[in-house]
Amino acid sequence: MTNYEPIIGIELHAELMTNSKMFCGCKVVDSVEAEPNTAVCPVCLGMPGMLPVINKQAVAFALRVALALNCTIQPHNIFARKNYFYPDLPKAYQISQYELPIGTDGWVDIQLESGEHKRIGIRRVHMEEDTGKLTHLDGGGSLVDYNRSGVPLLEIVSEPDIHSGEEARAYGLKIRQILRYLGVNSGDMEKGVLRVEPNISLRPVGTTAFGKRTELKNLNSFKALADGAAYEIARQAEILDAGGAVVQETRGWHDTKRITFSQRSKEEAEDYRYFPEPDLPPLHISDEWIVQVQAGLPELPDAKIAHYLADYGLSEYDARVLAEEREVAAWFEEAAAHFPDAKTITNWVLNNLFQLMNEHKQTIGEMQVTPTGLAELLQLVADNTLNNNTAKEVLADMFTTGESAKAIVAAKGLAQISDEDAIAALIATILDQNPNQVTAYLNGKEQLRGWFVGQIMRTSQGKANPALVNTLLTTQLAQRRLSDEA
Ligand SMILES: [Zn+2]
Repeated sequence: MTNYEPIIGIELHAELMTNSKMFCGCKVVDSVEAEPNTAVCPVCLGMPGMLPVINKQAVAFALRVALALNCTIQPHNIFARKNYFYPDLPKAYQISQYELPIGTDGWVDIQLESGEHKRIGIRRVHMEEDTGKLTHLDGGGSLVDYNRSGVPLLEIVSEPDIHSGEEARAYGLKIRQILRYLGVNSGDMEKGVLRVEPNISLRPVGTTAFGKRTELKNLNSFKALADGAAYEIARQAEILDAGGAVVQETRGWHDTKRITFSQRSKEEAEDYRYFPEPDLPPLHISDEWIVQVQAGLPELPDAKIAHYLADYGLSEYDARVLAEEREVAAWFEEAAAHFPDAKTITNWVLNNLFQLMNEHKQTIGEMQVTPTGLAELLQLVADNTLNNNTAKEVLADMFTTGESAKAIVAAKGLAQISDEDAIAALIATILDQNPNQVTAYLNGKEQLRGWFVGQIMRTSQGKANPALVNTLLTTQLAQRRLSDEA
């Protein structure tokens, strides 16, 4: 058996979350929820004689993505017509960028599960428009919805730097994370606003020529991307090992059978007869605009993780989890600005808040606990007004009622007892009430110490300061030992 090197390049299509479409004033609507064919006009329905106008917001979003992916920006942009006929494309051509895309020669760093980092080249980022959506009916016939026709679409093409299903998945996840950070795409693959199409080929290790490749479609998740690519790698290796030849074709992914299947063969590159779109002038992107968009980019995930490691002393794992989504990161940073110990904030966010969010199925944007609210709660723990356990209960109350920590503590009388005399008196009472346990303890049954602590905490309704209980209990038990021995 030959050892093969898998070569994978990925084309990723992302709809841009602009208010209106790429070349007309129609609203961009949710393609799953909106009534079909309600966000359409003569331009996006391809009526003859209608003229497209470029959506500046879409170009600004494309520019953000190209800059975030470290691309060289093309100042002189030309739109082209990509000609083909299909029922979801009423003009019989798609306006796209061909020879002069907005961004070229970029890169993105990915991290694999082993912790290894890898840089993947970005060949090009270009602007185009989405097509309509076809629904094929079981009984025959198809329905077409043009709400999606003309929605701004960005195509991001990687270099063939990806060598396994796992790397493909890590790359897809990273691009999605960046798009979400930039606020240009929701990343919702189930709604089709983000689509990935890997092309996969094998070549014997040590050789340089590319083998025949297959392209995968219908991948509706990053797991499907990883599994589909792994399946194709194994399938092609088997064909090559048996002395066969891989057919260059488009293959679909069957999500329940977990296999790929042939859709159509693609012997030659399709001839789309590209030519410059005569209805649109060249689009010039000025240096000033590039500088302005660059300055407006948010801190991106890799930079944020580095910043958390250096400035907050977090572990790499914690930093990654906090930086995974921009909203969570922003929430954490605001809380950290109001409380001096970022590690304590991190623990409370990752353990307690995430658990509450899970239980109540709420996102960080939906929940009622604010960053300053958590900081106030942790301040009550820091100054010994609350112990950790009571603070957890208070947080759960804050989560469901939206009340502040101080208000809940006052209303429920939860403030911790840190008065030494009061606690000493409480301990003395418990020890007096349980002479048999005291004797047993003094005779060596040391595990009874935990039982005493439990009694004291229960009698104080959990409000006794645990550190003080520990110290004072040690003192009183020692005194009783002395009086016992005397
Ligand atoms: Zn329209």
